[in-house]
Amino acid sequence: MTLLHKAFRLNLLHLGKQKRASLAALASLATREANRWATVLHEQKPRTRTAFHHLAYQGLRDAGLPAQLACDVVSQVWENRKTRTRVYRGIPLRFNFPRSAGHAQTHHARPVLTIATGVKGRLALPLAQDGAYDRYTDALGAGFVPKQVRLCATRKGLRLWLLAESEVAEPAVDGTLPVVGVDLGVRTLAAISVVRGDRVLEQHYFGRDLYPAQRDAGLRRSMLQEARDTGTMPDRARRGLRRLRGWEDRFTTTRCWQVAHQVVSLAEKHGASIAVEDLKDLRDAPGHRKSRRKTARLPYSKFRSSLESLALERGVPLVAVPPAYTSRRCSRCGEMGQRKVAAFHCPGCGYLGNADRNASVNIARIVVGAGKHGPQQLVSPQDSHEGGRVNGPVGNGDGSGGVGWQPYSSPEFKPPVSTGSR
Ligand SMILES: [Zn+2]
Repeated sequence: MTLLHKAFRLNLLHLGKQKRASLAALASLATREANRWATVLHEQKPRTRTAFHHLAYQGLRDAGLPAQLACDVVSQVWENRKTRTRVYRGIPLRFNFPRSAGHAQTHHARPVLTIATGVKGRLALPLAQDGAYDRYTDALGAGFVPKQVRLCATRKGLRLWLLAESEVAEPAVDGTLPVVGVDLGVRTLAAISVVRGDRVLEQHYFGRDLYPAQRDAGLRRSMLQEARDTGTMPDRARRGLRRLRGWEDRFTTTRCWQVAHQVVSLAEKHGASIAVEDLKDLRDAPGHRKSRRKTARLPYSKFRSSLESLALERGVPLVAVPPAYTSRRCSRCGEMGQRKVAAFHCPGCGYLGNADRNASVNIARIVVGAGKHGPQQLVSPQDSHEGGRVNGPVGNGDGSGGVGWQPYSSPEFKPPVSTGSR
């Protein structure tokens, strides 16, 4: 059994002046205290979370925070000690079920959320009964248990998140059924091969727009940074940088989830399991060139966690496989091949194809277990995501031309066969 976490963003009905004022005061108090203790954490460097808790807790209580919130401020400052700057613009207020948060109803049977703000008993926040609320109650009906409320005070008002979790069984991976091999590529977020036995059923490239979007954002960022440091309107450049960062975050998050949906739907269509590279192994592999490039650029860990939780939610088995040699071996004959930018070439059998696609077949076949390195010919339909046929060498992935290989032909090389299904 594994825990599946889910976050729901719910909408609040209009709050009265007093409630708004007391929540705003609490939020700014928590933020001020978080900044104060983040500085202390930085200077005194307590070695464990417990040591930091002993250091900060009484001070937080004396500042007027209720017990549970004080604990959560300690947690948040501790959790962010490495990733965030020491200045918080605002931290979310956390309330935990059932100790400091709960669901209740008004006497007109309207849903409210109650939170313990430490002032006068519990504060009741009326929930809007909209689509978001329906999705939330559906999830509760399906076995999710609410765990935490997060309230963020933003310039546009209060934002409310509810974190819930559910215990689900992890389905077992079956190598006799089809397997969706996912390679986390350099130019393509995910190169996909659906493999059954020794046949490749389908191949796709998902998330090709991420790399160019990230490159463009990088260019724009460096322009804005220069304008901030040397230009005549540094504040305007600073605002632009902030907007750009927000845009980038939202774009990558959205695309990661969309691609995860595409992969899981593909697996459902074939009744398949998903095999994906183990990123931990990637990072640890010494001198693995692919590893550094991979973990540095595209949002792999974000994509991996989206894929994992979505597969779990929909009951699709997922397994992480060691990525050793998956990008270097030929998926047709198992020989070690050569890689040149985006293309893979096998001197053994003459196979020439996209390197990420080759790797995705290898990843799938670790699970299929159909003669990992034995000599066998795969019949590959080579359909692209858009439905067009993909032949021979594949270029940079964005249509910007070849990679220096000449189209290869040898007696053993079979031209790609179109399935004609698209
Ligand atoms: Zn080969």
